[in-house]
Amino acid sequence: MEGLTTPLLVAGLFIALAALCWVSYRFSSLKKSVNFYSAALRDASEEKTPPATLPLDVPHLEDLSNAVHDLSDKLLEQNSLLDDERERLAAVLDQITDGVLLADPRGIIQFANPAAEKLFEYQKAAGHTVAEVVRHHQLVAAWQRCQQLGGTQTESVEIPQRRQFLQMIVTPDTHRAGSILLVQDLTRVRRLETVRRDFISNVSHELRTPLASLKALTETLQDGALDDPQAAHRFVGRIQIEVDALSQMAAELLELTRIESGQLPLEFTKTRPDFVLNTAADRMRAQAERAGVTMNVECPLDLPDIHADTLRLEQVLVNLIHNSVKFTSPGGSIGLSAGEDGNFVRFTVHDTGVGIPAEDLLRIFERFFRVDRSRAGGGTGLGLSIARHIVEAHGGRIWAESEEGRGSVFHFTIPNA
Ligand code: ADP
Repeated sequence: MEGLTTPLLVAGLFIALAALCWVSYRFSSLKKSVNFYSAALRDASEEKTPPATLPLDVPHLEDLSNAVHDLSDKLLEQNSLLDDERERLAAVLDQITDGVLLADPRGIIQFANPAAEKLFEYQKAAGHTVAEVVRHHQLVAAWQRCQQLGGTQTESVEIPQRRQFLQMIVTPDTHRAGSILLVQDLTRVRRLETVRRDFISNVSHELRTPLASLKALTETLQDGALDDPQAAHRFVGRIQIEVDALSQMAAELLELTRIESGQLPLEFTKTRPDFVLNTAADRMRAQAERAGVTMNVECPLDLPDIHADTLRLEQVLVNLIHNSVKFTSPGGSIGLSAGEDGNFVRFTVHDTGVGIPAEDLLRIFERFFRVDRSRAGGGTGLGLSIARHIVEAHGGRIWAESEEGRGSVFHFTIPNA
């Protein structure tokens, strides 16, 4: 029995020793793997190496390293989605015409998009206060109300120095306890509203004079002038003049509205400039002769063809010639000409008439604008406005030069065919 125990003990000892060696070997290689993997993770977390290069199948840590690798892949994917989204948002904020400002609870701007900096004419707004950037007490008050009361606040203000009309909507920024300021430039909308309001008041004003005359004339007729055939004849003649003026205004207003709203599509054809110029001159020759004004046409025959609606273009020329006839005294002259001007043909109508004061040269193209309402000739003040719309619809431009008392020159350009 004793003889058997000793070899068993030796074998047991041997096995235990071998197991110890194996465990110690396993432990040291596991430790090596853990150290190696910890170093790799540390490098990745300190961004010394990209997470995508984290080792896979690390001996003894296969499951862990593969799981970390998958996790890092997913994080990278989510990061790239977030980056895309952030870039898209940044592009939107960069491109929108509305200004966006983010302010912290103390009113320090944390972010301002380019539109906000442009609207407030303030470079690098971030880091400055709301009051410094918006520089308008009503807008600052709206921001303060939002901070104090917590609700959305809207304020519209006119900034005369910058000729701006701004609307600001301030909403609480629930994440940071600050506020988001959205600024819209309503200058154009406001201007259109003013134009429309002015237009209506102008029309009413323009209608008032002929209507008052008509009323006075009919009352005089009723009060006895009807019994005096000579006076009655005279009054009816004047009524006719007023009615003609009214119908001309109605026709021109309708025309202008149609042109402006694009309801009068232009019919473009290839046309010769001299043909349009001569046709318009022929239409106006009798009127010029009656007014004692001479009219000359000078147009080279080798000008390039133009791309135009011939009838509308004739109308522009007729309007210009009609004005020249109206504002030129007998003995004066009117000249029509055309010449090349880059890719355009430039038409010119000049006269030796009363001229236009320098300060009114731009305004004469506005609806209802007349230099001096008491000037002879009368008119609705719509002719040049119609002319401008037609020329611009052709892609050209119209302008005037003048010296008061010496005459006026009107130019307009029409693109070559
Ligand atoms: P109107 O029907 O009054 O002629 P327009 O729009 O054609 O309206 O012209 C606007 C104003 O511009 C005229 O009332 C006139 O005061 C001025 N104007 C236009 N053409 C001439 C011109 N050739 N000479 C002097 N003044 C002109």
